[in-house]
Amino acid sequence: MKDIKEIFGSCVFGDEVMKERLPEDIYLSLKTAIEKREGIDHSIADTVADAMKEWAIEKGATHFTHWFQPMTDITAEKHDSFITANKDGTVILEFSGKELIKGEPDASSFPSGGLRATFEARGYTAWDPSSYAFVKDDTLCIPTAFCSYGGEALDQKTPLLRSMDAINKQALRIVKLFGMNDVKHIDTMVGPEQEYFLVDKELFDKRPDLIFCGRTLIGARPPKGQEMEDHYFGVIRPRVAAFMRDLDKKLWELGVMAKTEHNEAAPAQHELAPIFTNTNIAADHNQLTMEIMKKTAEEHGLVCLLHEKPFAGVNGSGKHNNWSLCTDTGVNLLRPGKSASSNTLFLLTLSAVIKAVDEHQDLLRISVASLGNDLRLGAAEAPPAIISIYLGDELDSLLESIIKGEHHNDVHKTNMSVGTEIIPSIRKDNTDRNRTSPFAFTGNKFEFRMLGSAASISDTNVMINTIVAEAFREFADKLEKSEDFESDVKALIRDTFSKHKRIIFNGDGYSKEWELEAENRGLLNLKNTAEALPYMLKESNIELFSRHGVFNKTEVKCREEIRLENYCKTVHIEALTLLQMIRRDVIPAISSYTESLCSCIISKKKAAEKIDCSVEEALAKKLSKQNACLFELADKLDNAVNTAKEIEKIEDCALFYHNSIISVMNEIRDISDKCEQEVKREYWPYPTYDDLLFKI
Ligand code: ADP
Ligand code: MG
Repeated sequence: MKDIKEIFGSCVFGDEVMKERLPEDIYLSLKTAIEKREGIDHSIADTVADAMKEWAIEKGATHFTHWFQPMTDITAEKHDSFITANKDGTVILEFSGKELIKGEPDASSFPSGGLRATFEARGYTAWDPSSYAFVKDDTLCIPTAFCSYGGEALDQKTPLLRSMDAINKQALRIVKLFGMNDVKHIDTMVGPEQEYFLVDKELFDKRPDLIFCGRTLIGARPPKGQEMEDHYFGVIRPRVAAFMRDLDKKLWELGVMAKTEHNEAAPAQHELAPIFTNTNIAADHNQLTMEIMKKTAEEHGLVCLLHEKPFAGVNGSGKHNNWSLCTDTGVNLLRPGKSASSNTLFLLTLSAVIKAVDEHQDLLRISVASLGNDLRLGAAEAPPAIISIYLGDELDSLLESIIKGEHHNDVHKTNMSVGTEIIPSIRKDNTDRNRTSPFAFTGNKFEFRMLGSAASISDTNVMINTIVAEAFREFADKLEKSEDFESDVKALIRDTFSKHKRIIFNGDGYSKEWELEAENRGLLNLKNTAEALPYMLKESNIELFSRHGVFNKTEVKCREEIRLENYCKTVHIEALTLLQMIRRDVIPAISSYTESLCSCIISKKKAAEKIDCSVEEALAKKLSKQNACLFELADKLDNAVNTAKEIEKIEDCALFYHNSIISVMNEIRDISDKCEQEVKREYWPYPTYDDLLFKI
């Protein structure tokens, strides 16, 4: 492999390339606009576009595209070539400033909720200069935001950028109170760890459920699962290692800082973690990562499954969202400080997060709600659907003493008075890091572990940014009026900790006891998407979003609707796929095998000497009975799916899908899986879990 330094970012129109290829004044004005997040001066756009085009053509590009993120968790592109016709019939290659800044894809084929009815179908893409353009598949890709004619966000990037502005604005008010007047900007930083499965492409192609739904809808558990814990961090198999090497290289070319690759807990499961960066870029890079993972897998005869729960009874996949707040002067507000004042700022930030998470459990839960994730949350492998915060023993006992107003004895037995002296830096000790907590403090950042593997990281970060911005806003409103800052800030920290203590839980989040305990504490436990999403429309949530300019009321309503619709459609597709599999393949397979048993019985009975047929008879009877159940349940599912079509209100429809369709699907699966274990291998129509999970 070439030198990593040479490879890294080689397909990105990044800062260095811009500096080299743009006239100095234009480079500087672009850079300032990016740093200050201001609109680009249109007069420079033509020059930037031209430089981009020349560079992209050198990289082999023939087309350009506005690369955007409609509300589908995946990206969209509409390619145009650089070709423009000359009067004399020849062509020249052109790319204007206008084409760089604005595009007009037809919005009508992307989800828009009610926005489509109210506004024109046309949508606009607008260049986001804060995320660098890049060349991928011979195409110059320009990261863009996607809005309706009236300016409503139709994508996942726009609200993310708005939420980053919101938290920047409120966090700046806070740091100013601490005299940090040199800070001009505060960014949220994210490092998303991405989990995924790899399966053999040939086997994948034999399973309609994997093809249509990205997960298995039936499949008996193999005798060996992950109980031996021999896969986690185990030696990476050659085929997978080759895939990972290739993936890293492609990601590096695109400027994605892929850092760690290892096996995960389940067989055939792996993880990739990049080095953290600002949230907007992290979100774009995570989208790219998912896309390149899928493509690279295919090149290796594999398929990358990003679904949250591809296999029942085996760990699902998540995406750990590591989140922190960083000033442009390099201070991480979540790092315990070295001076009294920075310590107080740390504790204030910590209390803002605790308050935010406690007051807005619903929004965090909503941000990770999807059908796939419902199967994972609370399945004794991922955090339960209850939101809580883990702080670790050290920080927890510190908080206790703050609440009680006592002096704190830290583990080193140095007596310290809180907030005025140095907190020993919280050691990032892997052994006491609680993997069962959905929202864990890990030394200098929070790790939100509920996010599903297939989702964009945008929604989750929109929520975290907005709710923490709101807590900062309330704090700043109080403290800006304060006459005795020192004592008021300490009182505020203490009051916030004691008021929101219930959200802190350091125990085993997977245990049954916690569910009861959480209920006693009054914490929300929204078990499924259909139940969770309507919370979005709470008056206080609508107010919160509009106060911070993240969503207006229409946008909130649209998003809720789109996601509920998506939920219903996904269950619908799964139900139809299951029906097809059961009716066309499973029932006939069981029949065929029963038939062979019967022929065997007949032959035995014909034999001159009496041969025992009891096994064949018993098995044939049992399988026939189960097949009859499958037949009946398939009809039941079919009817339920038809009933769902008649339900008008989307909230009711989602609940119906959850209550009346998923349950029948589970019943069917149960019987089918039992039969799979008793039908002779060669009769079973699909590759089994054993094949899929253990044969790469
Ligand atoms: P693990 O959780 O597997 O122990 P690490 O703690 O090393 O791994 O990091 C996990 C992810 O957190 C990485 O993507 C890393 O870049 C990111 N990360 C580390 N520090 C920060 C920070 N201050 N803010 C946001 N993300 C961070
Ligand atoms: Mg982690």
